[in-house]
Amino acid sequence: MPNRKRRSRRPQLGTVAWRRLRLQALDRDGNQCTRCGNVAPLEAHHLDPHAGDTLNNLTTLCRDCHLDTHGRRPKHARDPEWDRLVNDLLRNPNG
Ligand SMILES: [Zn+2]
Ligand SMILES: [Zn+2]
Repeated sequence: MPNRKRRSRRPQLGTVAWRRLRLQALDRDGNQCTRCGNVAPLEAHHLDPHAGDTLNNLTTLCRDCHLDTHGRRPKHARDPEWDRLVNDLLRNPNG
């Protein structure tokens, strides 16, 4: 009978796709920071935060350079890329 439980266990495709794309960017850049050559921890940075998730729009930065690039300012709480970065870190502190 219509007693459906509302358990949507949809896979998070957006996250999976993003992780894959990020890995591709890291791989393309030789798994090192394009700024300082650091090899960890690495993150993908959007060259243009509004240009979307494409390989050409991503570059590999270590976390320090990445934070530096974003200026560590509260302003970036509204940066869509920054939002995602923070979410990603929260979900996967080692990734
Ligand atoms: Zn770096
Ligand atoms: Zn960035």
